[in-house]
Amino acid sequence: MKKSPELMDKIVSLCKRRGFIFQSSEIYGGINGFWDYGPYGSAMKRAVEQLWWNYMVETRENVAGLDSTIICHPKVWKASGHLDKFGDLMTDCRDCKARHRVDQMEDAAKCPNCGSNNLTPPREFNLMMKTYVGPVSDEEHVAYLRAETCQPIFVDFENVRISTRMKLPFGIAQIGKAFRNEINPRNFIFRSREFSQMEMEFFCNDEDAMKWYEYWKNERIKYYRDILGFRDEEIKIHDHETLAHYAKAALDIEFQFPFGWGELEGVHHRGTWDMSRHEEFSGESMQYFEQETGKKFFPTVIETSVGVDRTILALLCHSYDEDMAESKKEGVEEDVRVVLRLPAIVSPVQVAVLPLTKKLAEPAEKICRDLRRFFRCEFDVTGSIGKRYRRQDEIGTPFCLTYDFESVEKNSVTVRHRDSMSQDRIDVNQLKAYFEKAIYK
Ligand code: ATP
Repeated sequence: MKKSPELMDKIVSLCKRRGFIFQSSEIYGGINGFWDYGPYGSAMKRAVEQLWWNYMVETRENVAGLDSTIICHPKVWKASGHLDKFGDLMTDCRDCKARHRVDQMEDAAKCPNCGSNNLTPPREFNLMMKTYVGPVSDEEHVAYLRAETCQPIFVDFENVRISTRMKLPFGIAQIGKAFRNEINPRNFIFRSREFSQMEMEFFCNDEDAMKWYEYWKNERIKYYRDILGFRDEEIKIHDHETLAHYAKAALDIEFQFPFGWGELEGVHHRGTWDMSRHEEFSGESMQYFEQETGKKFFPTVIETSVGVDRTILALLCHSYDEDMAESKKEGVEEDVRVVLRLPAIVSPVQVAVLPLTKKLAEPAEKICRDLRRFFRCEFDVTGSIGKRYRRQDEIGTPFCLTYDFESVEKNSVTVRHRDSMSQDRIDVNQLKAYFEKAIYK
């Protein structure tokens, strides 16, 4: 569907109506930059995370997983540079009171909200979220919620290396929450203050680093094209022109959101910066001893870093579609059918089991119970079959299984495909194999 700004409103409204995403603390007026995932949203989020984990960790010999804490020793953030310069310049409009990030303003002398030029001078603003650990709330007990999931990966490098007996090159991956006190959270879940990241740090010899950078760039593009099904015109690579002093290369994989191109993922050559900084601040060796050559050195790091929430938003934008269906209502010739053409692997419901009438509920429910062990299923017996199909289309269910009178006699059901609307008659004993093939291809 055309990516107009109205599309964003439609997606936000569908997410709320159907239980994908709600504003956090809505009954108290909400809290800016925080979102809750409802029943379908949380199912989809788990599926998105599992898909990434499978692609990046489970199917590879040379990538190990990690699940670290959100709060680390404050020195971690001193070493990483976040406490000193992780921030943005911000300015306030004295007239309309809006707050802006200077780097995001087209004209830094004018308020993008009301056009006034009565702005405060730009001020540094640190994005780290602060808390206190222990009973005393003083400076000595300050701690921070992690601003990215990768720092604990560097800190735990040696523990992972020893426990897995891995040799360079190898990667460590983790999925988890990150927190940034964003000045201007906006565009729904694109920029929030609490979000989830999926990051992988790949440690290698410096001579091979650019080869691995190309490798991971290609792997990530393959993932978006072949696994999530994003079209060529929906994604593009943006090579960074200016690089951090320690980096040799960096790029963003951008997605065309309804509000414009936005960063989905970063692939970064981080040099030996993080490892050398943690050695400097902790006093512990962060170097790798290469047995073959007898050399000791800091591994060079290639990073892939993507937001779970941005992936979900991209999937929703990619999948949202409307088509015209024949109307059953009197006087109305056509009806808009809203359909989320989500890849089956991330759909919150993969198979909906719909008995044609209430009388057929019992045997249909048994089929649903059996399938639930393998797929995300939903049982629905309320309303006309047409309405039930529509409901499932709107939440992106790829397959609707209908149990009808013929099912009783022949032990077979019809399976309706969301995208082609074609129907297959399938023997009940074949259903598991049929859906396995269709979902996991
Ligand atoms: P941006 O320039 O959009 O602020 P960034 O370059 O600071 O992003 P990174 O620090 O590279 O982002 O974080 C890696 C990934 O984490 C991003 O590509 C994005 O998918 C996700 N991410 C970063 N900040 C946010 C946020 N505030 N809300 C949701 N996701 C985020």
